[in-house]
Amino acid sequence: MLRAGGLVAFGTETVYGLGADACNGDAVARLYAAKGRPSFNPLICHFADAQTAFRYVVPTALAKRLAEAFWPGPLTLVLPRAPNCPVSQLAGAGLPTLAVRVPAHAVAHQLLAAFGGPVAAPSANRSGRISPTSAAHVLADLEGRIDAVLDSGPCAVGVESTVLDLSCPIPILLRPGGVSVEALETITGRLAQAPTPGTAPAAPGMLASHYAPALPVRLNARAVGTDEALLAFGPVPAGAGLVFQLSERQDLAEAAARLFEGLHWLDAQAHAQGLKAIAVAPVPATGLGLAMNDRLSRAAAPRG
Ligand code: AMP
Ligand code: MG
Repeated sequence: MLRAGGLVAFGTETVYGLGADACNGDAVARLYAAKGRPSFNPLICHFADAQTAFRYVVPTALAKRLAEAFWPGPLTLVLPRAPNCPVSQLAGAGLPTLAVRVPAHAVAHQLLAAFGGPVAAPSANRSGRISPTSAAHVLADLEGRIDAVLDSGPCAVGVESTVLDLSCPIPILLRPGGVSVEALETITGRLAQAPTPGTAPAAPGMLASHYAPALPVRLNARAVGTDEALLAFGPVPAGAGLVFQLSERQDLAEAAARLFEGLHWLDAQAHAQGLKAIAVAPVPATGLGLAMNDRLSRAAAPRG
C-alpha cells in the first residue's frame, strides 16, 4: 500500500504514525488532507536503520554519535538534505533540512525495512486532536480517510520523539520528548533550547525565517504583468511568460504536492530572467487549499 501511494498508520514506541511514501508528493498531499492540517508542517521521515537514514541527509559527527547512542529510539534529528535527496518538497515543507528518525518498535522496524525508503509519518490523528497510542484510537479518528492501520499493540513511550536541530552551528532542542534532555546532554553538552519550547522553531512553518522566495509574491492574481512570473492553478491568463503550473485540472492534491517545488523553481528562473515578482493565481481556500493559502500568505508577507 505504501508503494502504491497509500496511507498506512502504524505503531511506534512513541505514538501511532500515519505513514506515506515520503518521495511521493501526491501521497504526502493526501496525508495532509487526511489529517485536515490547516498548514504544511514539515514531516519526520522514518527509517529502518541509521545507515539508510543517513543516505537522505548530511550527517555531522555529532549526529552519528547520537544515532549510535539513541537509535533505534524516540529521537528525531534535523539535518541538511543530502544533494539530490528524493524526498518530496512537500514532506519537508520546502525547507533545506529534513527531520529523520529510526523508531524502536519491532513492527515499525519490519514495515520500514520491507519498504526500504523514507516513510513520512506525523501522528495518526486529525489535526488538533489527541495523538493516538492504539490502533483503536487511530480508527476512531481516521476510519474512511486512510487505507489501513497496522495494529502494532499499545505504544510503550506514548509521547512524541525529542526533536534536535543539528543543522545550525549549535544544536537546538526544538521539542522535548521521549529521550530526556539530560540523556542527550551526556553526548551534546549543554543544549540551547528553542526560544519558546514547542512553539517557535518547533513549527518552522510558522517562522518568518521559513523559506520565502527572494522575489516579492503577489496573491490572487487574475492577470500577469510583463515583469512577473506566474504560479498558475488551471487556466493561464494571456500575456504570461514564465509559468509554473500547479495543476492544469485544478486538483488541490496535485497542486499541493507541487507547491514548494514551484516556488523554488520560479524564484530561481524569474531571478535569472530579470523578472521582478511572482504572481500567484487564486487557489480556493478549501481542503488542501487552506494549507496552500496559509503557506502562500506567509511567502507574500512583508519581509522583516
Ligand atoms: P509530528 O508532526 O507530530 O510528527 O511533529 C513533527 C515535528 O518535527 C514538528 O515539531 C516539526 O516542526 C518538526 N520538524 C520536522 N521537520 C523539521 C525540519 N526540517 N526542521 C525543523 N523541525 C522539523
Ligand atoms: Mg501530532
